[in-house]
Amino acid sequence: MENCIFCKIVNGEIPSDRVYEDEYVISIKDIKPEAPIHVLIMPKKHINSINDVKEEDLQIISHIFKVAQKIAKQLGVAESGYRIITNCGKDGGQTVEHLHFHLLGGKSLPISIG
Ligand code: 5GP
Ligand code: ZN
Repeated sequence: MENCIFCKIVNGEIPSDRVYEDEYVISIKDIKPEAPIHVLIMPKKHINSINDVKEEDLQIISHIFKVAQKIAKQLGVAESGYRIITNCGKDGGQTVEHLHFHLLGGKSLPISIG
């Protein structure tokens, strides 16, 4: 997908701090972390948002949760806890239109969503 910053991160055109990579997924440190642990987990395949997930993408989505489990362990927050968020569209606060899941932890996260 041209002009998609996350596709450019996936293909190495834009550098990133990678914490995990396999055939289907990468995970990178968020450039503006909102918690001591803040990584993004995304499919290598360009999918705009959760709205655009197709039947054939469901294996990748479930794989992302398996990867999240591994990363949480790797980054030391599996026991202390963490939050996984995906923002969708304008009201959801999505700023990059390439599906991604935020994994946040390393502190007690605020409950407020407003
Ligand atoms: P969204 O607001 O779409 O849910 O999340 C986009 C996230 O991507 C933001 O937390 C933002 O800090 C992060 N981000 C945007 N551009 C870059 C980048 O070039 N590199 C990295 N590592 N993170 C980015
Ligand atoms: Zn993309």
